Amino acid sequence: MIYSFWEFWDSITPFETADLQKLVNYNFNMPDRDNTYSTNQIRKISQCHSSLGTKTRVASPKLDRWKDLNKAIVDWINNDALEETSVKIAEENNFQFYDSIQKRILSDLFSRFRTIYPKKDYKFEHEYLVKEAVKELNGEEYGLTTHFTYGFEDENQFEYIRLKTAHDPEPELIDRAIITKLRAENEEFYTAAIELDDLIEIEQVENPDEIINEYFTILEEYLTNRKKRTPGRQCDYCDQVSRCGQFPLITDDKITNRVREVKISKTNLVKLSNCERRTAWNVQYGLPREDYIEFESESDGTKFHNFSQKLLVNNNNFLEKENIESFNQLTNQEDEVTREQLFLKYQQLVSKLKNYKDLKIKESEYILGFTCIAEGRGLRNGKVVDQKVATIFTGKSDLAGRVGDTPIIIELKTRQEIPEDALEAQLYALGASQLMKSEKEILVLHIYVSDHDATIKERKFGSSELESAKAKFDDLAKKSASWIPYDALSPKYSIGNWCEVCEFKSTCLENR
Ligand code: SF4
Ligand code: SF4
Repeated sequence: MIYSFWEFWDSITPFETADLQKLVNYNFNMPDRDNTYSTNQIRKISQCHSSLGTKTRVASPKLDRWKDLNKAIVDWINNDALEETSVKIAEENNFQFYDSIQKRILSDLFSRFRTIYPKKDYKFEHEYLVKEAVKELNGEEYGLTTHFTYGFEDENQFEYIRLKTAHDPEPELIDRAIITKLRAENEEFYTAAIELDDLIEIEQVENPDEIINEYFTILEEYLTNRKKRTPGRQCDYCDQVSRCGQFPLITDDKITNRVREVKISKTNLVKLSNCERRTAWNVQYGLPREDYIEFESESDGTKFHNFSQKLLVNNNNFLEKENIESFNQLTNQEDEVTREQLFLKYQQLVSKLKNYKDLKIKESEYILGFTCIAEGRGLRNGKVVDQKVATIFTGKSDLAGRVGDTPIIIELKTRQEIPEDALEAQLYALGASQLMKSEKEILVLHIYVSDHDATIKERKFGSSELESAKAKFDDLAKKSASWIPYDALSPKYSIGNWCEVCEFKSTCLENR
C-alpha cells in the first residue's frame, strides 16, 4: 500500500531530482529534469493522469513514519558510538514527536531493520541513488527513474537496498525492468522487507525492454492530455482528491497548501458515527490493523455484486427472461450450490428493479464524494496550532444510472438493513448532486437481497434533504479536523457493541 519510498520521492522537487543524479550509472544521455518521471509517478499516471499533481497535505502517516524510520537508520549507520548508544540517539532524534503507540511501531520497525541488515564496515550512501532508462518521445529525451534507499560499497562491489515496510514488498514490474536493464556486474539489488523480517534479492525480468517501452507509451499518452481524469479504486490512494473536481468542495472556503487534509471512505464514515478513535486510527494515523489477513478468498456476497454489475450495466434488456437466465453463463466456474444461490439472489434483485420504468444503469463501482472544510488543529514547528482541515468523504456505489431523467444510485446489500445505511445514502446523494448540479432530485436505493426475498429502501433527495445531509457532514468534518497529527491518542473513543468487531481492540484497551 502506501508505505513506500516512491511517495517520498514525489515530495522531492524536480530540481533536486535532476541535480543529484550524480550516482547513477547511465547508458544514455541525461534528459532534462522536467522530463524525468519516477516509477511511482508513472504508476500513478497509468491509473489517472490527473493524480499526478502539486504537493498536498493529505494525511499520509505511514509515509511520515517511513521517512522518520529512514532518518533513524541513517543516523544509526553514521554513528560510530556503541550500538546501544547509537540506537538510543537515533530514536530520540527522530521518533520524539510521536505518541507512545507510533513510537512503539517505529522502534519495532527500526529493530527489525537492524536485525536483517546489521551494521557493516562498508562505504555508505543514502541520497538519490537512482537508475534511469531514457527514450526519445516527440523529439525530446524522457527518463524513467527507479530509486534506492541505501547503497553500500565494499571493494568495488555495490549493494543497493530499497526500504519497504509494506506487507507486500514486491517491487513494481517497471522497477525490476529498469534494474535488469541497467545493472552492472558488480551490483546487487535487495528489498529490506521489514514486515517479513527478510532481505530479499530483487528478481530480474526476462523482457526489460518490452516493459520499459510499455511504460514509455503510458508516458507518451499522458503528455498529450495531462489533465485526463479516470476515477476508480485509485482515488483511495490519490492525494489530489480534493482538487481534481471529482470530490468538490461543499463549504464556502478554499483549499490552499496551508489546509491539512484527511480522506474518509464510506466504511470509515460508518465507523465515525460510532467511535472517532476507530476511524482516526484508520485514516489519520494508519495504525496496523490487528485483524490483517494477507489473502481472503472472494465471498459469495462479492461474487453476487460482481456478476450482477456485469449483467446490468448498459443492458437495456435486463428484464427479459432469456437475459436473466444468461446470468448462469457468468457463474459457470462456480460450484453448483453457489451458482444456484447466486441465481436466486439475482432473480430477486431483478424482480425489484422492474418497478422502475425506464431504468438505465450506466456505471458500476461509481465513485462519489465531496470535501468539507472545518476549523481544526494542526502542527506548526512541533506545536499544536489552529488550522483549517479539509475532510474528503468518498464512497463507491454499486450501480448508477437514471430513471427517466432522474439520477439514481443503487446499493446492493446481502445483509439486513442497518441504521448507518441512511448516512451512506446521504453521502451518495450529496456526492451525486455536486457532480450533476443541474438535477432537482437524486434517487438512492438500497436493495437488500436474500435467496428468497428482496426489499427496497428508496430515498429521494430534493433540496431540503440535501441541506440536512450537508449539515450532517459539516458536523462530522469538525470531528476529523480536531485530530492532532502525530498524536494518535488525541481522538475521542467511545465504547459500545462495535468494539466487538473493532480492528484495534487490543491496542485500544491498552491505551484507555
Ligand atoms: S481522486 Fe481519482 S479522479 Fe481525482 S485525480 Fe485522483 S485518481 Fe484521478
Ligand atoms: S475498541 Fe471500541 S473504543 Fe476502542 S477504538 Fe475500537 S471501537 Fe473505539
